[in-house]
Amino acid sequence: MKIIEKYLFLTNNHNGYKYSERWLNKNHNWVLRDVDNFIKNNKLETLPFKQKLYCTITNSKPKKCYCGNNSSFISINEGYGKYCSNKCSYQL
Ligand SMILES: [Zn+2]
Repeated sequence: MKIIEKYLFLTNNHNGYKYSERWLNKNHNWVLRDVDNFIKNNKLETLPFKQKLYCTITNSKPKKCYCGNNSSFISINEGYGKYCSNKCSYQL
């Protein structure tokens, strides 16, 4: 996603309502097309929508925990944590 497009999410995005699939579909359909393309190219179809959107906006893939699972997703603003679970964070 281009810088100018990312700007969409930085303004007037109270409670992150612009991150909802429904709102985007209604108001900014091109975002969903970008997400679709990015997700297909990177084979990330199984992710929940918010994570798909996060990966597209940041042009990244989900982070991996040292155990091999995807790290837990915190939020679109904060991205992924370091570990997949509390269990893994205590074991180091
Ligand atoms: Zn883990």
